[in-house]
Amino acid sequence: MNIKRNVLLNAGPSTTTDTVKMAQVVPDICPREKEFKDIMKPMRDDLVKIVHGSKDEYTSVLFCGSGTICIDIAVNSLLEEGKKACFINNGAYSQRAVDVARYYGIPFIEIKQPVDQLPDMEKIKEEVSKHDDIGYIYATHHETGTGLLNPISELGRIAHEIGAFFITDTTSSYAMIPIDVYKDNIDFCMASAQKGIMGTTGLSFIIGKTDIIKKSADFPKRSYYCNLYMQYDYFEKTGEMHFTPPVQTVYAAKQALIEYFEEGEAGKWARHQRVMNAIHKGLKDMGLKEALDKDVQSGLVASVCYPESPNWDFDKVHDYCYERGFTIYPGKIDGRDTFRLCALGAIDEKDIEDFFDVFKEAFDEYGIN
Ligand SMILES: *Cc1c(COP(=O)(O)O)cnc(C)c1O
Repeated sequence: MNIKRNVLLNAGPSTTTDTVKMAQVVPDICPREKEFKDIMKPMRDDLVKIVHGSKDEYTSVLFCGSGTICIDIAVNSLLEEGKKACFINNGAYSQRAVDVARYYGIPFIEIKQPVDQLPDMEKIKEEVSKHDDIGYIYATHHETGTGLLNPISELGRIAHEIGAFFITDTTSSYAMIPIDVYKDNIDFCMASAQKGIMGTTGLSFIIGKTDIIKKSADFPKRSYYCNLYMQYDYFEKTGEMHFTPPVQTVYAAKQALIEYFEEGEAGKWARHQRVMNAIHKGLKDMGLKEALDKDVQSGLVASVCYPESPNWDFDKVHDYCYERGFTIYPGKIDGRDTFRLCALGAIDEKDIEDFFDVFKEAFDEYGIN
């Protein structure tokens, strides 16, 4: 096989191994065949295992769609009649969850917090205590737009103290930053195959408490296609997705999970940190500033302020790097322009060193100082 290897420094989809890419090239198969169901059963167990859930208490439910489908499903399926959702909003992805709630006409409260600092936990406790009808608290673990990491364990504890359950969007941290559903007080988390597990796009999953999913059979139904209980129930009864699954992506995810467990939770997180340290170092050497303090960062995304040079032109630098196999990604923090360098995917230190060689060349080429 000879497929060009691109180093994706955007926040997913991420660089995959050749073995994951090749796993998608399979004989045509009808996904209703037993052979195909036999792939998804252990996959559901593995996805729970990654966040250390017990099979007796937690399950995972697969969906065909990008990561946002999980936000949609969790937000709309898990709110009991007569209750309100509560969103901790401190970034683009928690804003997305708020938008979903608004679209469905779900009753909710929103606790806004700064996008570049850790949330004020006292303030959150105070706000939450004003309501006695919160069904769930929802927070994003890693706000991928900025790189901010939220303290989910504490947020989950607050939820449990008020008898609500805790939903967290772990799409850009799952299978990278070690997560433990018990220590992190998680009732529901979610991710997408093209991020942490380093699979390909189109398969997403929610991992959560089986008893709550069963209970949610009686919660108001707000969507037909995007309902957690319906998909869970279909999986339990038939071993299949209710509707056509992303067949090739499931094969890629199967291979990606093999590689995940080979590398191991600790080894993989150590590699991501190695990559991020190389990013920090490269930025520092070039005199570029990061938008967030290190101590609030996830260690997976660096948001970089635009250089002040009048010759700086993101698109030109992007294209220069892109033509040489490296992808960088723009962003905005509180109206300020930034770009992002991310440590997701099947990459290592050496890729970052190679990237900075090209990045510096681009600066020289366009006279950026
Ligand atoms: C990537 C991501 C998603 C999903 O985005 P899609 O574009 O729908 O795949 C959701 N939440 C977070 C935190 C993400 O990083």
